Amino acid sequence: MAKVTVDASTCVGCGLCEQSCPDIFEVQGDGVAHVKSQVSTSCNLQEVADSCPVNSIKVG
Ligand code: SF4
Repeated sequence: MAKVTVDASTCVGCGLCEQSCPDIFEVQGDGVAHVKSQVSTSCNLQEVADSCPVNSIKVG
């Protein structure tokens, strides 16, 4: 299965990934998105990665 990571040094905390995939991403108190689970039931991770405005999400 694909492994999802967020680059905390470039994430701007816009919340887009969390909106699209709340099972997977959560913008926490430090202002960046964290991956809380690798298991997605309902979203296309590649699509979310492509929609990140600063390209911080890697699927691979
Ligand atoms: S979409 Fe990208 S910039 Fe926005 S919170 Fe998610 S990882 Fe960070």
